[in-house]
Amino acid sequence: MDIFEHMEAALSGLKSAGNYRVFAELERRNSAFPRATFYEDGGATRDVTVWCSNDYLGMGQNPVVTGRMVEVIGQCGAGAGGTRNISGTNHHHVLLERELADLHAKEAALIFTSGYVSNWAALGTLLARIPGIIVYSDALNHASMIEGIRHARCEKRLFRHNDPAHLRALMAADDPAAPKMVAFESVYSMDGDIAPIREICDVADAFGAITYLDEVHAVGMYGPRGGGVAEREGLMDRITVIEGTLGKAFGVMGGYITGPAVLVDFVRSFASGFIFTTALPPALAAAAAASIRHLKESQSERQAHQAAVAKVRSALDARGIPHKHNPSHIVPVIVGNASKCKWISDVLLNDFGIYVQPINYPTVPVGTERLRITPTPLHSDADIRHLVEALSALWSQCALARAVA
Ligand SMILES: *Cc1c(COP(=O)(O)O)cnc(C)c1O
Repeated sequence: MDIFEHMEAALSGLKSAGNYRVFAELERRNSAFPRATFYEDGGATRDVTVWCSNDYLGMGQNPVVTGRMVEVIGQCGAGAGGTRNISGTNHHHVLLERELADLHAKEAALIFTSGYVSNWAALGTLLARIPGIIVYSDALNHASMIEGIRHARCEKRLFRHNDPAHLRALMAADDPAAPKMVAFESVYSMDGDIAPIREICDVADAFGAITYLDEVHAVGMYGPRGGGVAEREGLMDRITVIEGTLGKAFGVMGGYITGPAVLVDFVRSFASGFIFTTALPPALAAAAAASIRHLKESQSERQAHQAAVAKVRSALDARGIPHKHNPSHIVPVIVGNASKCKWISDVLLNDFGIYVQPINYPTVPVGTERLRITPTPLHSDADIRHLVEALSALWSQCALARAVA
């Protein structure tokens, strides 16, 4: 077999199935979010409004965050200079871990280079190194959790998405003496639905399982201090491990787990994906800590964000543009056809200066292709009008069904 021919064929397969990923080349402009510069193929540039960023609150350009990053680059320079174990642990990493443990009211926290790595390394390590452990994983868990679980090669059971009764049935069928973990998310990224955390914890408790909750899409966004959905619902103490990212609402980069000191020390001591990699740049850790601190105190970003989400939803409703009614900030506008979804996204970009990436299979099931719209406090009323009017025009052109109010 020719190795390179094999690669060409695999890529052609993606292209003919409509699943080949094309990146939009953007330049974010500080203090102008959600405006960005779009680089066309030929190198020409255009202004666009970004409607699909995970910088949900615009913290990536908040002067509290960028100012702190610049300040600490001045103090510490660019890189960390090593792994955490060999000369790379900076004072700012330690401060950030304290901030995170406090955010989730846990004994300890550990930071990783991304949320993906935190899930992969923490789940991979815990599940590989606790003899006989069985993991119960929500069927729609994120790829990073799935990879961590696969890597561990432990016993695993998939429970139907957000279904505590199915979880209970699976747990009841297993050896009562086996150690157990339930792994799930709070806000699911593509549908924006929220887990029944209390009910899942009740089942986990009944079978003596520890719980692992990915709050990546919720940290900074929900709860009086931005601790996530578990904080908002008064359930943080029911969760053994809360995992999050510093790259979405906190606007920077990195991931983390928080939990009991012994568990965090265990992951710190055994996780290859933590040990054998360069520590985050100190300025990035300090900027993330500034973002977390700010969102612990300030409600205004969260309130303005919720208001923007409500405005987008009601404007879509007024035009009959179908979107998933979920209890979160994620607004999935369902197109239900891969080529139409891609076409609408292209026309929005080229004719309307609106950037929303199409979300197609395998990220979502065939027939549920969508535009995943993420309003932010920095989108103006005029931005919202422009978006919804553009969508409405394209809905007519594509002869897509309208929702009935
Ligand atoms: C984005 C995401 C991650 C990964 O976080 P990064 O910091 O982007 O690596 C983990 N879990 C879920 C549910 C996510 O959507």
